[in-house]
Amino acid sequence: MVDLKGQYQKIKQEVDAAVLEVLESAAFINGPAVSRFQASLESYLGVKHVIPCANGTDALQIAMMALGLEPGDEVIVPSFTFLATAEVIALLRLTPVMVDVDADTFLMRPEIFERAITPRTKAVVPVHLFGQSCDMRPILGIAAEHKIAVIEDAAQSIGADYIFPDGSRKKTGAIGDIGCTSFFPSKNLGCYGDGGAMFTNDDELAAKMRVIANHGQAKRYYHERIGVNSRLDSIQAAILDIKLRHLDEYCDARRAVADAYDAAFADIEELETPVRAANSTHVFHQYTLRVTNGRRDELSDHLASLGVPAMIYYPVPLQQQEAFRHFVPAGLELPIADRLCTEVISLPIHTEMDAATLDTIINAVRSF
Ligand SMILES: *Cc1c(COP(=O)(O)O)cnc(C)c1O
Repeated sequence: MVDLKGQYQKIKQEVDAAVLEVLESAAFINGPAVSRFQASLESYLGVKHVIPCANGTDALQIAMMALGLEPGDEVIVPSFTFLATAEVIALLRLTPVMVDVDADTFLMRPEIFERAITPRTKAVVPVHLFGQSCDMRPILGIAAEHKIAVIEDAAQSIGADYIFPDGSRKKTGAIGDIGCTSFFPSKNLGCYGDGGAMFTNDDELAAKMRVIANHGQAKRYYHERIGVNSRLDSIQAAILDIKLRHLDEYCDARRAVADAYDAAFADIEELETPVRAANSTHVFHQYTLRVTNGRRDELSDHLASLGVPAMIYYPVPLQQQEAFRHFVPAGLELPIADRLCTEVISLPIHTEMDAATLDTIINAVRSF
């Protein structure tokens, strides 16, 4: 699905030198590489504070802890997402409220979010799934009206811009109260292990998140609240600082692959190529087709038999997950998420795709 080896080969010299520098310095935790990467990412995103942490799931958890949510508070999430988005809500004894998504973009729809609001709603998590932005302006408007915090899950969308109606742009993750991302190796900005970060323009929230990520201590050995231990280590930060310089070209490379797939499948009636939202750029964390004739699993088997990797993101919506059984109210119906889980299939997409590989994949799909 990705070619992390090929990508590393191209930046090997830069990366090896940066890793060696950390090894020589022995500043493995909170070393200068971490503050350098933090500053680089703040400037790339145009956001006041980047708080690095250990992974994307921790980022979501720390964000929710910093917002001071209380057990029983409701947090609205799309049901078609990676489970981590909702897992931390349950872990903190908050109540996940699952909503349906848009059939074309796979994203949370502002009016569906609005309908799910109750007096207990305290936060919403728009997930910029597969690499394009949710429609943030109406989401921000509705959230402000109801005093609901907006936590963006930007784990798949780093580098994507949301385009406001007046044409101005902001990077996904830098729009809501807090943005969260993951540096898992296969993410668009991935490190060589685990990593994550929170983003915010709010000084107070930033200070709280730093304290929470560091055992609840602002001053060493003086713990003002219960926190967690969640750090990005210096080696990963050094690698990320180099990869960040290449992020825009990586996004372009992914878009070029998506364009080629779009053109190759345009005439196939039973395949819906990804719909590109007018108010977002797309960084194609995934290139996800919809197979509309009920034969998705057969296509998947056909590709596997030809040695072409393809993945189903995601086969099960949140409301059908065993772990979420207790959070599904009687009569909950999320038909679009249910249907998408039977229709979607993601093809390999990455920064090192060559013409021959692309042809092989396209021919494999077309032969079916
Ligand atoms: C990857 C991902 C996460 C979790 O990130 P980890 O670093 O794996 O903990 C959360 N949400 C979404 C949408 C993701 O894709």
